[in-house]
Amino acid sequence: MSAIVGVRYLIVSGAFAAVTRARHPGLYAGLDPQIRREIGWSLASAAIYGVPAGVVAWGWQNRGWTRIYGDLHAWPLWYLPVSVLLYLAAHDTWFYWTHRWMHRPRLFRIAHAAHHASRPPTAWAAMAFHPIEALSGALVVPLLVFFVPIHPIGLAVVLTVMTVMGVTNHMGWEMFPAALWRGPVGRWIITASHHQRHHQQYEGNYGLYFRVWDRLCGTDRGLGDFTRDHARAAARAGRARADDAGRGGPGR
Ligand SMILES: [Zn+2]
Ligand SMILES: [Zn+2]
Repeated sequence: MSAIVGVRYLIVSGAFAAVTRARHPGLYAGLDPQIRREIGWSLASAAIYGVPAGVVAWGWQNRGWTRIYGDLHAWPLWYLPVSVLLYLAAHDTWFYWTHRWMHRPRLFRIAHAAHHASRPPTAWAAMAFHPIEALSGALVVPLLVFFVPIHPIGLAVVLTVMTVMGVTNHMGWEMFPAALWRGPVGRWIITASHHQRHHQQYEGNYGLYFRVWDRLCGTDRGLGDFTRDHARAAARAGRARADDAGRGGPGR
C-alpha cells in the first residue's frame, strides 16, 4: 500500500510539475535542492500513509471490517455525494485543528518546520511532512471508514480530491479560473491562493479544503497572490542563465 501511495504521489506531482514547466517556465528555477528534500519527505510520508491504509484494506477484504459498502444500492444514490462531503468536512476539521496545533512553537520546531522549509513550495511539496505530521494525517481516512458508510466510488473521489488539492495548493500558481476562486465559491473553498498566504505569513489560513473553520475562528487572512514569488523566480532563472552563459563564455 505504501508503494501505491508513493507511486501515486510521484505520478500526480510529476504531472503537475510538468504542467507548471509548460505554463510558467522557470518557476522552479534554482529550487532543485529544495525539490529533492520535498520528494524525500513525501516518499517517507507515503510509507507512513500506507501502513494504516494497508491494514484497514486487508481487514475490509478479509474480515469484513469497515462500513465500506460494495453494493451501490445499499444506500440511496443521493447519499454518495453526501458521503464524499462528510469525509472532506471531517478531514478538513481534523486538519485545521491539528495544523493549528502544529504551529505551536515547540511542535513547529520539532515537526511542522519541515513542511514550511519549502519557500515557496512546489508541486512536489504535497506530502512533504515530518513523520509526526504524516502519522496524524495517515489515520484520518482509515478511521473514518469504520464510522461513516461510503461506497468505493465515493472513497476514490475523496482520495482523488485529497491528492490533487494537496499538489495544486502548493504548486505556486492558480490553476482554477479566477471566476471560481475570486467569486462566491472561493469564499468557502480553498485553492492555491489561500494556501500561498499560509506559507508566506505562517500565521492564519490553516484550513485544507474549506475556509469554514478559518472564518469561524477568525484565522482567515484572505487570498494571497503570486506576484512576488513569480518575480523572485524570474530573478533566479535570470541568474541561472547568466551563470550558464558565464561558464560557456570565451576565455574561461
Ligand atoms: Zn502547505
Ligand atoms: Zn503550516
